[in-house]
Amino acid sequence: MSKILKIIIIPNPILRKKSKKIDLESINTSKFKKLCDDMVKTMNKKNGVGLAAPQIGKNICLIVVRTKDYILHMINPKITKKSILKEFDEEGCLSVPNFYGKIKRNKKITCVYFDKKQKKQKIKAEGLLARVIQHEIDHLNGILFIDKNVKELKSIKQ
Ligand code: ZN
Repeated sequence: MSKILKIIIIPNPILRKKSKKIDLESINTSKFKKLCDDMVKTMNKKNGVGLAAPQIGKNICLIVVRTKDYILHMINPKITKKSILKEFDEEGCLSVPNFYGKIKRNKKITCVYFDKKQKKQKIKAEGLLARVIQHEIDHLNGILFIDKNVKELKSIKQ
């Protein structure tokens, strides 16, 4: 059974560390599969569109992303191409509770990564998906959206 993991929030230093690359051999273990399932369950429960491993306390290069139609598990993701065109849109982060703001991101990206079957994949993304992938990869480098030039930062009290 997958379980809901505790989300780490600022100012926890784990969020500021650079994550380690995942040894591809370890992808095929039940422990790793369980971690992926737990992360997806946590993301869905918290209504997130993406979750990076540092957010649940692990400094490893793993992110999960939810699209309208499917879930992406991205291991050792790397952006290989970025559009010159950028756009502003609103972002929030489960690790920075109750804050939202507009951030400029590349409109289109190409990203290479390994999937759960140790297979190398390449995805071309734009719009929201490109934004989410950029946001989650930032987490692997210890970067949060509030480090960027945020426009119209809003605090929503709960
Ligand atoms: Zn985030």
